[in-house]
Amino acid sequence: MITVDEAILTIKEQTKPLSLEFVDLENALGRFLAEDVVADSDLPPFDRSQMDGYAVRAADTQDAPVQLYIAGESVAGAGWHNEMLTGQAVRIMTGAPVPKGADAVQQVELTRELDGGSTVEIQRSPDLGKSIVRRASEIRAGETVLQSGEQINASMMAVLAAFGYAQVSVRRKPRVAVIATGGELVSVSQKPGTDQIRDSNNYSIGAYATLAGAIVKLMPLTGDSPTLLKRQISAASKNSDVIITSGGVSMGRFDFTKTVLNELDAKIFFERVALRPGKPIVFAQLPNGVLLFGLPGNPVSVSVTFNLFARTSLWAMQGAHESALAEEWAILERTVKGSVDRESYLPGRIRTGEAGHMLAKALNWGGSSDFVAFARANGLIKVPPGVARLEIGSTVRVLRLPS
Ligand code: AMP
Ligand code: MG
Repeated sequence: MITVDEAILTIKEQTKPLSLEFVDLENALGRFLAEDVVADSDLPPFDRSQMDGYAVRAADTQDAPVQLYIAGESVAGAGWHNEMLTGQAVRIMTGAPVPKGADAVQQVELTRELDGGSTVEIQRSPDLGKSIVRRASEIRAGETVLQSGEQINASMMAVLAAFGYAQVSVRRKPRVAVIATGGELVSVSQKPGTDQIRDSNNYSIGAYATLAGAIVKLMPLTGDSPTLLKRQISAASKNSDVIITSGGVSMGRFDFTKTVLNELDAKIFFERVALRPGKPIVFAQLPNGVLLFGLPGNPVSVSVTFNLFARTSLWAMQGAHESALAEEWAILERTVKGSVDRESYLPGRIRTGEAGHMLAKALNWGGSSDFVAFARANGLIKVPPGVARLEIGSTVRVLRLPS
């Protein structure tokens, strides 16, 4: 049985980046940059006023209060492009260019216009350089400001816009087909009969895959029929990059997923990982290159294995420079049990305590089927293999689940 880290490494090795495409900037949120973003101009592109007020020569105001002659006005978008001389001031707005000759801006609150607006009284002397953001003090033209592989967040949208990236180079979205197996399943719109339950995995997998940037297609339920499963996998493989099944990967008489994969000549990279919950988990590749994750059936195991394994692959396909979930430290708020031979990733709630420390509380998940409790989980708590118990107050590694 391989470890979680080994499984993730195998997945990264087998995952190829998808082809490149351009998206319009307004649709780029959440995508992964496929190119470095380079500044096409200095920022600011000119000496810029940070305040509404008066551009002055600081030396002229040393004996403040002083009166200066108003030589002109510099507005954002329409600067005053003459040389400002000694004894002069220029009325200036936030975001407007500072005229040549000026070396400070005094804010309007510390000034008063006189003589019908022909002169201004500067009541206090500004320090040299006050309220002026010098050209290129933030970014120089030619500098790399964002790197390939970074995920575009809302603030980065402004950076892309500022440097003229009307279209952004990204990798195309992975197409994911989701297939639920299990003779007990009926669809969400049906009332379960005797011995039946509603399929819920397709919806959590679909949602997690959407969060991971994929275009999702839910396939029809296959029951426990190997023929139907084979048919759905074959159909899905024609127009997807990844297939994600749930259920049917354990040792039961009706666990047919692996049998079907063998019949389809799939290459199986692993079928068990030393993980709790979620030991039976299949990672395979169909002859046409489509990757397949056979997740276990238990809804909690589904969420854990999806986020550790399938999500990593979906991010890697999109060129993410780091596709594994980031780990942080937290302090346990409730004692947890580990496993002798498996690494545990226990669903829990992570929050910041009053002292500013991160706290983690494992949920009462009562076995890997309690997905109602899991719905409140926002992270996974790692317990190393061979650690029987971790007491309250212990320091643990946690991973935040995407939301
Ligand atoms: P399996 O791995 O197929 O043995 O399923 C393990 C458990 O997960 C069983 O209790 C199933 O009823 C349950 N299960 C499997 N698939 C689903 C699904 N799509 N939605 C909800 N529960 C499921
Ligand atoms: Mg089943």
